[in-house]
Amino acid sequence: MFGTSCDEPGQQAVNAPDLETIVTHGLCTGCGLCASLAGRDRLTMQVSSYGQIRPRAREKLDAATLEGIQSICPGIRVTGPDASQVASVGTMHPVWGPIRSLHRGWAVDEAVRFRSAAGGSMTALAVFLLESGKVDSILHVRASSAKPMLTDAQVSTTAEEVKSGAQSRYGPVAPLVPVHRLLDEGRRFALVGKPCDVAAIRNLARIDPRVEEQIPYCLTTFCGGIPTLHTARKIAAHHGVPEDEIQVFRWRGNGWPGPTHVEARDGRTYDLTYDQTWFDPSRPWSYDIQFRCKICPDAIGELADVSCPDGWVMKGGTPTHEEAPGVNLLIARTERGERLVAEAAAAGAIELAPFTIAQLDAMHGDHLPRKLENPARIAALKVAGAPAPRFSGFRRWRMIWRAGLWRSFRAFSSTKRRILAGAHREPLL
Ligand SMILES: Cc1cc2nc3c(=O)[nH]c(=O)nc-3n(C[C@H](O)[C@H](O)[C@H](O)COP(=O)(O)OP(=O)(O)OC[C@H]3O[C@@H](n4cnc5c(N)ncnc54)[C@H](O)[C@@H]3O)c2cc1C
Ligand code: SF4
Ligand code: SF4
Repeated sequence: MFGTSCDEPGQQAVNAPDLETIVTHGLCTGCGLCASLAGRDRLTMQVSSYGQIRPRAREKLDAATLEGIQSICPGIRVTGPDASQVASVGTMHPVWGPIRSLHRGWAVDEAVRFRSAAGGSMTALAVFLLESGKVDSILHVRASSAKPMLTDAQVSTTAEEVKSGAQSRYGPVAPLVPVHRLLDEGRRFALVGKPCDVAAIRNLARIDPRVEEQIPYCLTTFCGGIPTLHTARKIAAHHGVPEDEIQVFRWRGNGWPGPTHVEARDGRTYDLTYDQTWFDPSRPWSYDIQFRCKICPDAIGELADVSCPDGWVMKGGTPTHEEAPGVNLLIARTERGERLVAEAAAAGAIELAPFTIAQLDAMHGDHLPRKLENPARIAALKVAGAPAPRFSGFRRWRMIWRAGLWRSFRAFSSTKRRILAGAHREPLL
């Protein structure tokens, strides 16, 4: 196991793992913050044979750099939200975390709403942050222009650039590689990324005082996990489009959820509905997420200022994926996030409608297994003798209580069995 029994922010772990151990034991999220800290001349991010993006050291890292990486890496350390966030307003929900305000919502700009993954709220909030002068840049991602199946980090300073990144990218990307460059340049920027990307920024804030001032907003999604690049490759192959002939690879958007759309350079186009892409067992691909996602303590963005999942259409008490005008939920976690949502609505950037925690329970129940079983899964890693990350502040005992002893025991046993069989391991490159 990594770490001491002390969970003080910024404190170094004892027997802390090197990068090779983090990667080969399936703990890396692929965020790229280690490469940002070490610098590209010493550490690069590369797609591995496993189909995820992983750090590769060009030279042996000195002890100080490695210690820095160990304290910021979200693969091995995530500290939960602070109860003081909701001391005066809102609630610390046992499952859904801090909630200061909760709404359904969508971008007022119809073109953004149509193009985006869901209701375009994340894009609308990011554009509002830029145009109101609250930040000068947005750090987010977008499809690679050179290889559209891949995804690149993107620093945007105009609304049009932000909009070009709208949609969900269900594949590897290292969004945080530019972070230290932006901090060094004195930029004030917002992050739009996955919950683990936000966790990395929160870790960095504990050792770098610039973060509080220069990264004032973190916006995120709910996250089902990142599939490997093999999934995209299999979809392209299924359509008979070689990788180097792909002109567009769009996972969602242009509708809600919108088709998984592949366009070849010769003009051929192929569309699959959301359910055909992810819920048809006859397809030769699956949602083959990395191991770290299976033990994720926070796939619902508890550490963000605002978390923006889908606001699915409900039928008979369950979510459906029928095409409709896009809708998000906007869960403001912090005072800053609450103010941002209110100001963006007042400025006419987003439209808000009422929503309740009971509705959230019904709509996003698919996130309960990972959340409730997390303490049991982490305990299994430790008992099996595998390197285990340090996750604290996620209401561990309340999760176990909610899951019940039998469910926790089953989660513990099946995870332990998989760990002993080496199912969490991945090749270094
Ligand atoms: C891998 C993945 C899993 C998801 N799982 C769930 C889920 O389980 N439940 C759920 O309700 N919603 C999930 N979502 C979120 C959902 O698909 C929508 O993205 C979200 O509701 C925001 O919608 P929007 O219209 O506001 O986003 P948009 O306005 O389209 O903006 C999306 C923003 O997210 C950024 N982004 C997209 N992909 C990535 C990525 N891979 N890494 C970092 N940043 C990225 C883009 O740069 C863009 O700025 C997932 C998204 C991703 C990428
Ligand atoms: S999780 Fe991020 S910081 Fe940690 S090793 Fe992977 S890429 Fe580097
Ligand atoms: S499930 Fe967790 S670790 Fe995996 S990509 Fe999503 S936020 Fe990151």
